Amino acid sequence: MPTHPVTFFSPGDPGGRPDAVERANLLDLDREGLRAFFVELGEKPFRAEQVMKWVYHYGVTDFNEMTNISRPLRERLSAIAEIRAPQVLSCQDSADGTRKWLFAISGGNSIECVFIPDEDRNTLCISTQVGCALDCSFCATARAGFNRNLTVSEIVGQIWTANRSLLRDHPQGERGVSNVVLMGMGEPLLNMKAVVPALKLMIDDMAFALSKRHVTVSTSGVVPKMDRLHEAVDVSLAVSLHAPNDELRNELVPLNKSHPLDELMAACWRWLADGNRKKHIMFEYVMLDGVNDRPEHAHELVSLLGNMPAKVNLIPFNPFEGSGYRRSSEEAIQRFAKILRDRGVFAIARRTRGEDIDAACGQLAGEVEDRSKRWRKFAEPRFGERAL
Ligand code: SAH
Repeated sequence: MPTHPVTFFSPGDPGGRPDAVERANLLDLDREGLRAFFVELGEKPFRAEQVMKWVYHYGVTDFNEMTNISRPLRERLSAIAEIRAPQVLSCQDSADGTRKWLFAISGGNSIECVFIPDEDRNTLCISTQVGCALDCSFCATARAGFNRNLTVSEIVGQIWTANRSLLRDHPQGERGVSNVVLMGMGEPLLNMKAVVPALKLMIDDMAFALSKRHVTVSTSGVVPKMDRLHEAVDVSLAVSLHAPNDELRNELVPLNKSHPLDELMAACWRWLADGNRKKHIMFEYVMLDGVNDRPEHAHELVSLLGNMPAKVNLIPFNPFEGSGYRRSSEEAIQRFAKILRDRGVFAIARRTRGEDIDAACGQLAGEVEDRSKRWRKFAEPRFGERAL
């Protein structure tokens, strides 16, 4: 249950207003939470749906504009509650239509989210943590280290802000967000507490009203949490595989040492086994020149997947300074894809988008005050580079 302590923001908190009392941020509550909030106020639970419609369908933040709510309740809400998405620090447009937002997150941190318009869909790639605690060797977010989990309002606030900004540019509404992928900064399954209510809001008709097939959680393979997600909310699943055997995956995705491939694949089968739900799992595979892109890796991947209903998404590696990796050649990517396809595995090679504004996969880094002290590790020379 939400409580409403009357405290002051700490000075210097960029997300806060120094002279304001702390209010309950209604973007932190899914429908169930909001109904409980109104019951606690002695109000009817259906006020939740009324407020959600204003907030999510019309982008209204001022309770005084919510005209189907009585004036006394509007005044009460104005005193104790607020609708607050994270503050936008910047918004950049790429030549290919991709748009990237940078949001201020308390403690001097920032996170990013990216809008990727396509012919048939408008995808928003959102962050779930400030930095990332995992240490995938080819990911820029990993280099930034980890600070903390995002709250529900910080997660859904990214979608809410994007929708508002897109609707301003396209008042007909045809360019709003249609798909959400949790593939920005962070590991979603290590922030279940906020990610689950956020996912519920994404697929709730009273909130973002997205199809559950159009909301995709991407995980590096946090096996126990895959089962929990599956029990909590029905959305699509992507698994960041990147390697077809444990030896290579241990190197690229160190989490594999705790949850090796046999465990991961078994979790995927459990996820698929649940009756009337999704038909396949998306496997992401970043294409690293000479590392995981050889024909033998493709053959191994075919055996690993067996007859699992799967789609493989081959992602050209997006370089960043000091990564130590190179992107696979176009020929290597096509050769890899052909081996998979010839053996009946559905494979697509993802086009890289938004590179000119550092918005491509794995390039989202934001500004993270690293509490994991990961920088120490990279202060040592690596892959034959000079020290940073
Ligand atoms: N932690 C989650 C979600 C964030 S990463 C996960 O691992 O799935 C989202 C996707 O971007 C993952 O598949 C990740 O492996 C990929 N990625 C990370 N760094 C990349 C890079 N430098 N180039 C291309 N893709 C990258």
